[in-house]
Amino acid sequence: MKKEPYFGSVRFFKNMILLAVILMVLIPTVMVVVRGNQLEKLEQQEANMRQELESVSAELLEFQEEESKELGVDVISYQTMYPDFYAPEPLTATEEASKVIYLTFDDGPSERTVEILEILREKDVKATFFVIGRTDEDSLNLMKEIVEEGHAIAMHTYSHRYTDIYASVEDYLADMYKLFVLIRDTTGVEPSIFRFPGGSINGYNKGVYQQLEAEMLRRGFVPYDWNLSSGDASGTKASAAQIINNVVGPAKKLDRGIVLMHDSEPKTSTVEALVPMIDQLSELGFTFDKLTSAVKPVLFGYRD
Ligand SMILES: [Zn+2]
Repeated sequence: MKKEPYFGSVRFFKNMILLAVILMVLIPTVMVVVRGNQLEKLEQQEANMRQELESVSAELLEFQEEESKELGVDVISYQTMYPDFYAPEPLTATEEASKVIYLTFDDGPSERTVEILEILREKDVKATFFVIGRTDEDSLNLMKEIVEEGHAIAMHTYSHRYTDIYASVEDYLADMYKLFVLIRDTTGVEPSIFRFPGGSINGYNKGVYQQLEAEMLRRGFVPYDWNLSSGDASGTKASAAQIINNVVGPAKKLDRGIVLMHDSEPKTSTVEALVPMIDQLSELGFTFDKLTSAVKPVLFGYRD
């Protein structure tokens, strides 16, 4: 029997058809399986990447938080607040005059301001008023008068509410800026010095004190505490004699004295003490001047 050639034979075609059928079934199946695997792999890869990304961003966040704590990222944000809230003159605090007394009055203007101004005028003494945010017409006129009489007008905060102003650097700046604008708009003078309510170190500002002081200094404002406390802020009203003693006694040991007094309605004994206090300090050889940012600060924690 002549062997039929395989190619072109019926069997060949049958096999070809069979092969085609098998391939037709197999190829899509293989493709589906391969694709499925690939998809699974891709999905796995994607999941891995997402996990990695998440852990990296968590790390980044942690790092940023740590860094911002170290650098105080808050500093950067509040430094850009109130771009016109800067002292008019650059810091030059070098003046260290001898035998000088700086009389300072906190918390005004008040019902006592006119009396204080009158005494200062009579005695030809210049003083410094750390004012707060009083906006009634009388107070605004008194602020103008303080400036017109040649005294220094300085910032003491607008609200003088410890819990508000010392809540954060932002709160403090917002309050001080409000006062800065009030003084500027009322008197035409941009104040360059300030006093912390309660003094630079007090029970309310421990958490923010250093940042507050650094930020105010960065803006060119100079803080002043005091080294002669008249004692007129104490709960029980100090008599004029006590106030005089509180100041004149300790002043004998000082070369430069910053006297803390208060310009507020109930402080009548402060007004009463003023003339004899000025006289006695003059007898000790002191002259009087107002504070400017050129005067070397007296600050708690600093020693002359
Ligand atoms: Zn005060």
